[in-house]
Amino acid sequence: MASQHPIVEYTSQASWAMIEDKFSPYAKETLTKLIKFYEEEILPARRLSHAQLPEDPVKRWKTVIPVIEELKVKAKKLGLWNLFLSKAHYPEHGVPLTNLEYAVMAELLGRAGHMAPEVVNCSAPDTGNMEVLAKYGTPEQQKKWLIPLLNGEIRSAFAMTERHVASSDATNIRTSIRREGDEIVINGHKWWISGAGDPRTKLHIVMGKSDPGNKSSYHQQSVVLVPSDTPGITIVRPMKVFGYDDAPEGHCEIIYENVRVPLSNLVLGWGRGFEIIQGRLGPGRIHHCMRAIGAASEALDTMLRRVTDPSRKTFGKYLHEHGAVIAEIAKSRAEIEAARMLVLSAALQVKNADITPKGALKEIGIAKFVVPSMALTVVDRAIQSFGAEGVCQDQGLAKMWAGLRTLRIADGPDAVHIQQVGQRELKRAPGLVKKAAELAKREDALFQKAGIKKGKGPSLVAIFYVLNFEKNSVINPIANPPLSSALPFL
Ligand SMILES: Cc1cc2nc3c(=O)[nH]c(=O)nc-3n(C[C@H](O)[C@H](O)[C@H](O)COP(=O)(O)OP(=O)(O)OC[C@H]3O[C@@H](n4cnc5c(N)ncnc54)[C@H](O)[C@@H]3O)c2cc1C
Repeated sequence: MASQHPIVEYTSQASWAMIEDKFSPYAKETLTKLIKFYEEEILPARRLSHAQLPEDPVKRWKTVIPVIEELKVKAKKLGLWNLFLSKAHYPEHGVPLTNLEYAVMAELLGRAGHMAPEVVNCSAPDTGNMEVLAKYGTPEQQKKWLIPLLNGEIRSAFAMTERHVASSDATNIRTSIRREGDEIVINGHKWWISGAGDPRTKLHIVMGKSDPGNKSSYHQQSVVLVPSDTPGITIVRPMKVFGYDDAPEGHCEIIYENVRVPLSNLVLGWGRGFEIIQGRLGPGRIHHCMRAIGAASEALDTMLRRVTDPSRKTFGKYLHEHGAVIAEIAKSRAEIEAARMLVLSAALQVKNADITPKGALKEIGIAKFVVPSMALTVVDRAIQSFGAEGVCQDQGLAKMWAGLRTLRIADGPDAVHIQQVGQRELKRAPGLVKKAAELAKREDALFQKAGIKKGKGPSLVAIFYVLNFEKNSVINPIANPPLSSALPFL
C-alpha cells in the first residue's frame, strides 16, 4: 500500500504505488519540497512573470524577467536545482536523483509552462546542452561553459536544424565546419534555434559537416562550441509558433558566416557529432513527455473548474451535467493515466539500463509520439469547454496547445519515431513465424492422433471475431480483419 504523499494530488494513487519504493528518502523529501515551492512560490508568480515581459517588440528580447531570477535564488537555496542531472550518470556534477525520480518532478513542473523548469534550472535546451558538456566536454570547456550553466548564470542554444534541408534526417545537415590552422571556421544557415534570442545566452553548440566525403554518413558531422558574441553570427529573426514568439528565449533563424573559434572548441573529436546528438536526447525526451503530461493534467483541472462554474448553464443544464462533457472528462483522465504509466515505464527502463538510455529506446520512442498527441487532445477538450474564451489570451490554454503541438515536430517528428518503433517491431516477425510453424506442427500431431483431417477452417481469433459480430458486437471482422501476415498460421 503506497503512502499518502502530496504528489498523489497531482498524479494518482496508482502511479505513486507503482514507483514509491523506487524513490530514495532524499527523492521523496525533495519532491515534497518541490510541491510546496510550486504551490507557494511558482504558481502565485506566473501572471507576474508574463506581465514583466514587455509588449515592446525590441525590449521583450532584452528582458531578463525579474521574478524568475528571484525565484531561481530561492530554489537554489532550497536545493531545488539541476534536478534533471542524475548523479548516477554524472557523478561529478549531478544531483542524487534518478531519471525516474526526476520524471515525476518534471510532470509537476510541466503544469506551469516554461517558467517552472527555468526556475529550478531544468529547462531545455540548457538541460541537453549541460549533459553534452558534462559527458563530452574537456575540463577547460566544462570550466568555461558547464559551470556557469549549472549555476544558472548563462543560457545556451543547440544549433542543428537548417532552413534549406530536411533536418529530421540529421545526415542532411550542410553547415560547413572546417579546420584552418589553429582555428575552426563555420558557415551555415540554421533556424528554429531555441534560446538564441535570450540576452543571457552566451553559448551556441553548433552541429555541422566537417567531413562530407566520409564513407559513413554518420561520421561526417562534428560539434563545436561557439560563443554567442563571435563575429559572423547574425540572428536573422525569431520564428513564431502559431503567432507566439516565445520571447525572450525564442527560436531563431541564424546565419553563421566565417565564424572562427579556436580548435579547442571542438567537442569530443572530429566526426563524432552524431554520437553527441544521440547521447544528448534520450532522458530529455522522457522529461518532455512528463512535462506534457503535467500540461494535460493542468488543462483537465482547468476544464473541471470551468464546467462546474455555477454561473454557466446551457439548455437547462450546467455544463458538467451534459453527458458529452462528462465523457470528455473521463476520456481525458484515462488517457493521462495511460500516458503516465507509459512514460514511467520508459524512465524505469533508463534506470535499469543504468547509464545510457539505449536500453529504453523502444519505450522512449513510443512515448515520444504517443504523449504529445494525447496531451493535445486533452488540451483541445479543455479549450472547447471554454467556448471562445478557450482560444484567446485570457486563458493559457491556447498557448499551451501551441507549445505542445511543436513537440510533435521538434526533436524528431512523430513520423520518424513511428518508423523506428515500427522497424524495431518488425524485427520480432521472424521469431513469431518460427513459433507459428512450431505450433502448426503440434496441431498436426494432435489432428493426426485424433484421426481428423486438418482443414483450412478459421482460427480461434477469427471465430472470436465472427461470434462477436453475430452478437451485434462493435467488433466487426470486416472493419478489423485479423492480419493474416502477422498471424501466418491462420
Ligand atoms: C518550437 C521548436 C523548437 C525547436 N528547437 C530547435 C532547436 O533548439 N535546435 C534545433 O536544431 N532545432 C530545433 N527545432 C527544429 C526541429 O528539431 C525540426 O523542425 C525537426 O527536426 C524537423 O525537421 P524539419 O523541420 O527540417 O522537417 P523535415 O525534415 O523537412 O520533415 C518534414 C516532415 O516530413 C515528415 N517525415 C520526416 N521523416 C519521415 C519519415 N521517415 N516517414 C514519414 N514522414 C517523415 C514528418 O512529418 C516531418 O514533420 C525546433 C522546432 C520547433 C518547432
